Amino acid sequence: MKAAIYYGIQDIRVEEIDTPVCGKGEIKVKVHYCAICGTDVRIYLSGHKKVIPPAVIGHEITGVVEEIGSDVKYPEKIQKGDKVVLVTSIGCGVCKMCRKGFYNLCPDTKAIGYFYPGGYAEYVIVPAPAVKQQAVIKLPEGVSLKEGALIEALSCAINGQNYLNIGEGDIVVIYGGGPIGFMHAVLALAEGAEKVIMVDPVYERLEKFGRHFGDILLLDPKKINVKDEVMKQTGGYGADVVITACPAKQAQIEGLGLLGSKGRISLFGGLPKDDSFINIDANLIHYKELSVFGSFASNRRDFIKAAKLISERKIDASKFISCVVPLEKINEGIEMVRQGEVLKCVVEINSDGRP
Ligand SMILES: [Zn+2]
Ligand SMILES: [Zn+2]
Repeated sequence: MKAAIYYGIQDIRVEEIDTPVCGKGEIKVKVHYCAICGTDVRIYLSGHKKVIPPAVIGHEITGVVEEIGSDVKYPEKIQKGDKVVLVTSIGCGVCKMCRKGFYNLCPDTKAIGYFYPGGYAEYVIVPAPAVKQQAVIKLPEGVSLKEGALIEALSCAINGQNYLNIGEGDIVVIYGGGPIGFMHAVLALAEGAEKVIMVDPVYERLEKFGRHFGDILLLDPKKINVKDEVMKQTGGYGADVVITACPAKQAQIEGLGLLGSKGRISLFGGLPKDDSFINIDANLIHYKELSVFGSFASNRRDFIKAAKLISERKIDASKFISCVVPLEKINEGIEMVRQGEVLKCVVEINSDGRP
């Protein structure tokens, strides 16, 4: 089969490799689409401890079930020919977090597209532990395989917002105008947020993509004092929710200072691993009764919610997919994502026959 092989930093080559064989307890999926994640770009640029080259990466996968291995017991019937999306995080299955279904927080989490071979290939094997954890989810009626490639990224934003309790009347500030930032914006509006404000110093990009999403206030922090503007927009009260969808300390520190009483902040984007300490005024948290949340990856329930939102057209997938490239052009796709030229770039391995 054809696969994009990651040989190391800035070295991905599309080659012919042996098609994987579906073993006991496994499910083989013919990959149709695999969207490029910011993490894929980071793996490409600086490697990842769980990705040992040569490897096939890619975890935002949709495809069609090709074969079901012997001994597969699946509670929700999965058949050859089903259109599916794959859950990324696979846990050990026995630890405290896994027993609660939080496979993303398992200390021994092994993910598809990191530890296990991923979706930048014609076929992917869903390993037995993933099958046991029901990592294969049927796409709902009306969600195309291409649209389905957004489910993983959206599921991560959903996991982040699970903690934030966004509702009617909330004013939400989002740092970062990448695909995840816009997903947070659309989700917050779908939850009833009164106003969404987005901040990104790469303002040209924020504006270019922001145009498609309608009612979001876009701020250029190079030109506008973000705190003054947020205070103006909130009648001096401060924001109800801040989400930092970017790997920037400045956003975390500044974001905390934007919150009004009972405000919630999600440090959604991680910081570089060798530079992850920040200085904050802890008394802001104390006196204003603020809540600080983290979020990492997602689980099956978040995938199901993401798929439902796309099927109900509460999330318009076409607004996010600004680029589709064939597998042969994966390097170009990664480069476009890195440059911020596109919102979400989807690698097409087999077309789903739709325009
Ligand atoms: Zn991803
Ligand atoms: Zn575990």
